[in-house]
Amino acid sequence: MKVQFLGAAQTVTGSCYMIEALGRRFAVDCGMHQGNKAIEERNENTEIYRASDIEFFLVTHAHIDHSGLLPKMAAEGFSGPIYCTEPTGALLSIMLADSAHIQEMDAVWETRKRVRKGAKPVSPLYTAEDAAKATSLLSAVSYDQSFTPAPGITVTFRNAGHILGAAFLEIVVVEEEKTTRVVFSGDLGRPEALIVDNPETPAIQADYLFLESTYGDRDHKDENTSREELGQAIAYSYPRKGKVIIPAFAVERTQEVLYSLFLLRKEGKLPKDLPIFVDSPLAIKATEIFRQHPQYYDDDLKALLQQGEDPFSMPEIRYTPSMQESQAINAYEGPAIIIAASGMCNAGRIRHHLRHNLWRPEASIVFVGYQGVGTPGRKIVDGAESIRILGEDTAVRAKIFTINGFSAHAGQSQIMAWLASFTRKELKVLLVHGEEKSQGILAGLIREHLHLEVLIPSYLEEMTLLPGREVMVQADRTKAEPTVDWELLVQDLEAKAALLRSRMAALPGRDWPTQAELRDKLLEINGEIMRLVSQI
Ligand SMILES: [Zn+2]
Ligand SMILES: [Zn+2]
Repeated sequence: MKVQFLGAAQTVTGSCYMIEALGRRFAVDCGMHQGNKAIEERNENTEIYRASDIEFFLVTHAHIDHSGLLPKMAAEGFSGPIYCTEPTGALLSIMLADSAHIQEMDAVWETRKRVRKGAKPVSPLYTAEDAAKATSLLSAVSYDQSFTPAPGITVTFRNAGHILGAAFLEIVVVEEEKTTRVVFSGDLGRPEALIVDNPETPAIQADYLFLESTYGDRDHKDENTSREELGQAIAYSYPRKGKVIIPAFAVERTQEVLYSLFLLRKEGKLPKDLPIFVDSPLAIKATEIFRQHPQYYDDDLKALLQQGEDPFSMPEIRYTPSMQESQAINAYEGPAIIIAASGMCNAGRIRHHLRHNLWRPEASIVFVGYQGVGTPGRKIVDGAESIRILGEDTAVRAKIFTINGFSAHAGQSQIMAWLASFTRKELKVLLVHGEEKSQGILAGLIREHLHLEVLIPSYLEEMTLLPGREVMVQADRTKAEPTVDWELLVQDLEAKAALLRSRMAALPGRDWPTQAELRDKLLEINGEIMRLVSQI
């Protein structure tokens, strides 16, 4: 059996493992690459996926970094089944459509900018039609029920406790009487997660485990105080008649926040006259999907439902799908809680609520998720005095709360605890879905405490897995990380500086405004070079 790493190798996004076995090609996940420009270019270069040669996909869960390139695969000729659990399929149908809409809007915006410069228009990464094509290929499977997508290949989805419908996969391949047992962890959840059940333990003793390592270097701090902290934000803004603004991802996080508010309400810590606006069309649709799948909830939430209580239909909740309803929130006087996407404040309706409230000392902003470097959310968390939002500088006067306990990922000790259920000492662990630093730390821990062999695959690397043998690695470094010719680039810069010098004599003869303009340009270039140098 051969595996190629088409993403989430020494990075977190773009999960896709292309497998060849028994003369067939199939893949686990097909995520979008997200991050800087160099990483995102990988979304354009999908010919290496060879979409029309893929027989089927196994999708662990609906997050875009595991599913976001499925529409592109459908556009490029993939027409086989996409296996996933029923709730994952339901979430995918809204999330892929939403992702396609973003791609189309981005392309319109980029084209407008280019056409003004006389450049060619761009086409979107994929369209709503491609997303619909991918959605039509979804094929639902149940947790814990093995199935055979192709002769000789048996697959079982098991609850990963990460988001609604998320799974880890057990794959057993029988090739010429040789059996290879592989487990893909997908994204592993926390045992204490509010809505979904705890992660199951694997039922097979694997030869190889592809293990996520997002939080391989740390545990989540203050996991159990999240609700209390949310209560503190309310206790701060409510008497001051301010708004509590919660930027949240549409899927799972929004519902967990609603659940926490519901528990606060039971504890008498949620004032009766405090409306909760859920102001995100995607989050509203996702909440509806949660409500259609109560059998996937954990026992606590199931028991509440049985008593006739439902956190998603508290009387205080006001769902505001339309633009008019959303805009009306701005005119709402008095305290309120507003939950909106995006979770990192770089897109969506949350930006409008921040513009209306960030500068108000009576408001509070409650961060309940990871804030990526460079996002407005990260700047606020890092203590910026003012940030640019919707093209306007806005002062940060609101009280800022950062709550760590809502993570959908297992922390370091939770990964280690789950891993301890694999007892074969021949198990080989391949760390994926993590930054290099956290992978290095987790690898050390696994070697030291569990004495297992650990490998850290890199992008585009190909491995041949044969139980009982060394893992054979073929890597095409030139393709994955093309060498940068620094010498040539610096020579080019020096040649340009020489050219500038050769023309310098003409400058004093130019009129003053032109000289001033050229001087400013040169100062800007010098500043840019110094910023570059300081990063080296
Ligand atoms: Zn995930
Ligand atoms: Zn992920």
